Amino acid sequence: MKFYVMTLFKEMILQGVSHSVIKRGIDKGLLEVEAVDIRDFSKDKHRRVDDYGYGDGVGMVMQPQPVYDAYMSIKKRSAEGTRVIYMSPQGRVFNQKIANELANEKELILLCGHYEGIDKRVLDEIGAEELSIGDFVLTGGELAAMTIIDAVGRLIPGVLGKEESFMDESFSDGLLEYPQYTRPFDFMGRTVPEVLISGHHKNIAEWKRRQSVINTLKKRPELLEGAKLSEEEKRMINELKNQ
Ligand code: SAM
Repeated sequence: MKFYVMTLFKEMILQGVSHSVIKRGIDKGLLEVEAVDIRDFSKDKHRRVDDYGYGDGVGMVMQPQPVYDAYMSIKKRSAEGTRVIYMSPQGRVFNQKIANELANEKELILLCGHYEGIDKRVLDEIGAEELSIGDFVLTGGELAAMTIIDAVGRLIPGVLGKEESFMDESFSDGLLEYPQYTRPFDFMGRTVPEVLISGHHKNIAEWKRRQSVINTLKKRPELLEGAKLSEEEKRMINELKNQ
């Protein structure tokens, strides 16, 4: 999968993807990340890409022309119909479902804003969808774009190693994951649940599922409404709620 990132801070993106799992995905040829510097498309002799906002003139706004030209330089090389996503606090809020959806794309163009944002006309012209990583305001779209690359990139088959998996993970089935344990068996008097060392796969699977439901009830109860639960699990939840 290829990500084109339109940015004013190319190094931030290239640094961000040069570690750990995503770097491995790139090294294996499963992921590609190309950072495109919007400033390279400025027609200003000082490479400026922003100007005062119309209206009361408070704050700077990214001008439409460099963004448009940067986009067109990518459009020429990218697959027909490649989605362009403007990282924006006003967008649809990113979650695992959207990550799964985006992982089906072959290429994505991620557009990072700065200052007060980007002139609306170019966003309309290039058909940008808006995507937020949460209800807070960042100084720029780069951390948001990296979040998307990380969450989507790890879903591409082969990017995660054999010992890593996203099958049981939080949100994969609408629930949070069960607690994790590793060696030593006894840490400061706190021992690992016996079932996990029993070697009994069915009991282990049941324990994990039960803990997953309990974890979700304790930490994010609202998620249970959208989760697929058996009748027994629903009964267990009611009992736990009444305790
Ligand atoms: N004036 C804008 C507003 O109030 O909606 C905020 C602009 S913000 C300071 C600068 C840039 O950071 C945005 O253009 C966007 O690309 C990025 N950004 C900020 N918060 C974000 C969020 N929660 N999710 C995704 N991108 C965000």
